Amino acid sequence: MAARTTKSPWTPERVTALNKRQKNPSWHPYTCGGNRCDAAHVQHAEQHNDRDYGVLVATPNGWVCPVCGYRQDWAHTADTTGEFRQWDARVADPSPSAGERE
Ligand SMILES: [Zn+2]
Repeated sequence: MAARTTKSPWTPERVTALNKRQKNPSWHPYTCGGNRCDAAHVQHAEQHNDRDYGVLVATPNGWVCPVCGYRQDWAHTADTTGEFRQWDARVADPSPSAGERE
C-alpha cells in the first residue's frame, strides 16, 4: 500500500502538527537525509536534547535540518492532519461542542 504524502508549502496548522509529532515519543521523528551521524549532528542533538541525530524542523516550505540545511518537501498526510490536530483543538477549546463544529 502506497503511503499518502503531502508536499510543502504547508499551512501554519500543518507545520505545528508536524513539529509536535517530532517531539512525540510514540513515533520515530523525520530525520536528516544527509550525514546525520557526523560530529556536528551529534553535538547539536546533545545540546538540544533531541531524540535522534538530525531531527528535522518543519517550516511552511518543508522540512529543514538545523545543522546542515538538508531539505525535504514531503510528509505523510496523516501526520499533518491526524490526531494531533484534533487533540490541539480540544486543548484550545475544551467546551463540549468543540468537536461538533468541524
Ligand atoms: Zn543534517
